[in-house]
Amino acid sequence: MYYSRKKPQAELPTEMTDIWSCVNEDCNGWMRKNFALDKEPVCFLCQSPMKHDTRELPMLNESGSAVQVVNKPESKDE
Ligand SMILES: [Zn+2]
Repeated sequence: MYYSRKKPQAELPTEMTDIWSCVNEDCNGWMRKNFALDKEPVCFLCQSPMKHDTRELPMLNESGSAVQVVNKPESKDE
């Protein structure tokens, strides 16, 4: 699939990743299954149940950097 919009960043390799997705349609909460501690987690945003889903995500290193991403002090939401 091709997009006409410019990509500001270099393309990262992606893979279909198992995730938990919030059942609440008004909520964007989701987490990688690899980082879910509970067998059936609840959404950290709205505490709704979560359902199994897949999403194409950038591949992560074995080092599990995503855990550090959660704890990073600086917000880069801009
Ligand atoms: Zn939610």
